[in-house]
This record gives sequence, C-alpha cells and structure tokens, in this order.
Amino acid sequence: MHPTDFTIRGALEALNEGIVTSEALTQAHLDAIQALNPRLNAFITVTAEKALEAARASDKRRSDGLAGKLEGIPLAIKDLFCTAGTRTTAASRILGEFTPPYESTVTSNLLRDGAVFLGKVNLDEFAMGSSNATSAYGEVENPWQRSNDDGVRLVPGGSSGGSAAAVAARLALGATATDTGGSIRQPAAFCGIAGIKPTYGRCSRWGVVAFASSLDTPGPVARTVEDCAILLESMSGHDPKDSTSANLPVPDFAAACARGVKGLRIGVPKEYRLEGMPEEIEALWQQGLDWLRAEGAEIVDISLPHTKYALPTYYIVAPAEASSNLARYDGVRYGARVNGEDLKDLYERTRAAGFGAEVKRRIMIGTYVLSAGYYDAYYLKAQKVRTLIKRDFDEAFKTVDAILTPATPSAAFAAGEKQDDPVAMYLNDVFTVTANLAGIPGMTVPAGYDRHGLPLGLQVLARDFDEETVFAVGTAIELAAGLKALPQVRAFA
Ligand code: GLN
Repeated sequence: MHPTDFTIRGALEALNEGIVTSEALTQAHLDAIQALNPRLNAFITVTAEKALEAARASDKRRSDGLAGKLEGIPLAIKDLFCTAGTRTTAASRILGEFTPPYESTVTSNLLRDGAVFLGKVNLDEFAMGSSNATSAYGEVENPWQRSNDDGVRLVPGGSSGGSAAAVAARLALGATATDTGGSIRQPAAFCGIAGIKPTYGRCSRWGVVAFASSLDTPGPVARTVEDCAILLESMSGHDPKDSTSANLPVPDFAAACARGVKGLRIGVPKEYRLEGMPEEIEALWQQGLDWLRAEGAEIVDISLPHTKYALPTYYIVAPAEASSNLARYDGVRYGARVNGEDLKDLYERTRAAGFGAEVKRRIMIGTYVLSAGYYDAYYLKAQKVRTLIKRDFDEAFKTVDAILTPATPSAAFAAGEKQDDPVAMYLNDVFTVTANLAGIPGMTVPAGYDRHGLPLGLQVLARDFDEETVFAVGTAIELAAGLKALPQVRAFA
C-alpha cells in the first residue's frame, strides 16, 4: 500500500507495528505535495523541513514508549489557525508576512498528541466564500473530475477548500478546518470526504483568525468518519483562553463510531426538501434513510419551520460580526501597510489594498446592518430569528435523536460558475447554516455520486454536545454506502 493511502487509524496501527515510520509517512506526503500542489494549489505554505524534523522526533518518542494519540500523523492546517513561527495568512493580502509568535489552542492540542504539520492550506479570504475563489493566494482545484467531460476544473468548495482538496488528493491524512456557515461540511461534500463541525464551544477558537465569533467553529476533515472522531478528540477540550469554550469532558468519540443506530429516532425535516433540487440528491437522501432504517433506526417526519429564514439571518449576523472583527486590520499593529498622508489615509489605503472584493462586501453589509437606524430593523431582528431557529431544533430533539439531510444542494460546480452572482454562491449553504445559527454539531458523510461520478454527501445533525450520536449515525451511513473510490489524482500529476 502506498503510504499516502492509509487512514489515520490504519497509519497509527502501522506505526505501532513498525511497518512504517513517521519520517517515511511524512516524506511520502511531501513528495505527493510536490507532485500535485502546483496544479491543485491546496497548500499556501509547505513546511517540509520542520515536518521532517518533527517526524524524526516523533519516531524517537515512539521508540521511547512515549507515543501520543496522534503520534507521527502528518496533517494539513487551514491557514486560519495561528502557528508559532510559521506564516499565517487567512488567505488575505492584509496579513502580509504575519508570523504568529504563538500557537492556536487547537493546533497546540494536536502537537501535544504527536501530530506532524505538513504546512498551511488554502481557504477563502478570512473564510468568506463557498468555492475557495476569494483567496488572495489563488483558486484551489477539486481533485475530482466529471467522468464525461474531462477539461472542466471544479471548485473544491469553501471556505476550507484547501483542507478538503488536500485530504481527498492524499496530500495529508487529515486536516484542520473551520465552519462558520458550512465551511467544513460543504467542501467535504464536494471532495468526497468526511468532516464534522462540532458543537459551538467544543473546540477553542483561541488563535483562530476570527470571522464571525458567535458562529466560528473549528473541526476536522478526514477520509473516514472514524478518522474525524480521532482528530476531534485531540482538538477538543476546555480552554480558559476562550470564554465560549465549554468546560466539559471530551468523550471517546472513536468508540462512539461503533455504537450502531438501533433504536435511534432519525428526523427528516420537510423544509429541507427544496424546489428544484436535483433528483439524485433527493434519491440519495431517501437511500440514506433506508440504510438507517435497515440498521434498526426509526425514521420520523419533523418540521423546522423557520428554516427558510436561516440564510438571510446568517447573512446579517455573519457580516455584522465580521465588520467588527476585521476592524483590527488597520496597517498599524501587524500585517501589511500602505502609507498615507495622515493616519486616516493610511487606514483607507491599507484596507483598500489589503482586502479582496468579497471581504469588502461583507464589511459594508455588516456596517450597514449595525448602523444607527438599521440596527433594530436588521441586526436585532436577525438575532430574534436566530433564537427561533434554535428553538425549532430544541423542539425537534424532544422527539428525535438525530436529523438527516443532504449536505449540499448540488455536487461541485465548475470554477468561475457562480462567481458573478453572490446570492447563488450564498445558496450553497442552505443546508448547513442552520447548525451554526443553533450551535449544534453537524457532519458530512460521503454517501454516493451524481450522474457525472462526482461525490455527494449527507449531513447528520444532533443535539448540543452529542457528537457521539453524530459519529454513530455517520458510521452507519459510511458502512452502508461502502464507497471505495478516491479521485484519480496520480493520473494528472
Ligand atoms: N460560505 C459561507 C460564507 O461565505 C460560510 C463560510 C464559512 O463557514 N466560513 O460565509
């Protein structure tokens, strides 16, 4: 087996049995990055030397009997997580050559457990987008291609497009990502891998470049549900440096994968049946329900009546928080600077040159909905609707244990396709934003293919802090689907 074909679980066993070393595993991934990244553009920064050094230190720890839970596993880190001594860009020009002197809590946790970082992966600028096209470091290509028409380059989804493309193309065994409105689940679906947005508060936001603080949720992507569970367990935990971090014990997520779904009640929300949704997505959803029923789950029709307000609510709350969070990029304290005639001129020139068009659009929307006179009509109203959306879920979870929906309303689309129409782009998140507004956990599980052979995912939602049920249901779907295919990346190296 090629070392980049391992799952994380499989690699941990192989390392343990001495079949492979972390150094060999890391070198194999660095070779794959070298071969494929010029085309995919998944990595913004590759830290090859640091990675090899870390791998050798890891092999030493293992031979000394000091192996951590992720000892020797090569991972990719979304370039939104601050990494000590390694440039962190948020895929924005405005951060310039910013090199954090500190490590985010989530990446510290992974390092504590022995993980090896291959480098920093691409994303939409400040995680704003659904196709990775807003990155100042260029677009990322989805490693999948349509079976019929070879020339078309597809987007990997976003904002965690680099994370998802890197994992699908076997440039890393797993990756960190973040999800504010769908940025873990949508790219995972487009790239045919698994990804979980845990409950808000499960993973610390400390050291993660802020987009919309009440929605931002770090989480993992990987090629299997169990690998996501292994990564999430390491990433999670209480952090006194983040006042919204939950002070709760971290369950054994990997063990929860094997629980099965017998006796679980699975909700099917009628509001997620969208008009004009491709039939194959509808069919896959039905298939997923049939699989769960066959494993002993009970399928229950439910209603989440405020679903139709979720996208408009999100596109008020998220830009409002973003406009406030991004006020810090003024060219004075860190990042890039464009000098001006006076201080105000310096601010204006720096921000005009440093931010891309989508980020500017969000700052303008956010500033507008927070302005005196419009605050009550938009922002306050959106906050109230957000509470209603949360209540819909609270009601539903009185009768069901989990909810199954499609992950996205379509498979990966072509590069450039929705670029001129922000509203069409925002529609990508129609099934995912509700979980961010409510704070609940949600996971994408690859479940099938469209008529062009492109991957499609299903989404599993559950109660606050019940990621264990998400993993149990996700594993049942993964087993039933039995998908084996990965994109044929070696062909286009
Ligand atoms: N696509 C959504 C947006 O553009 C969500 C992004 C995210 O989750 N970071 O805001």
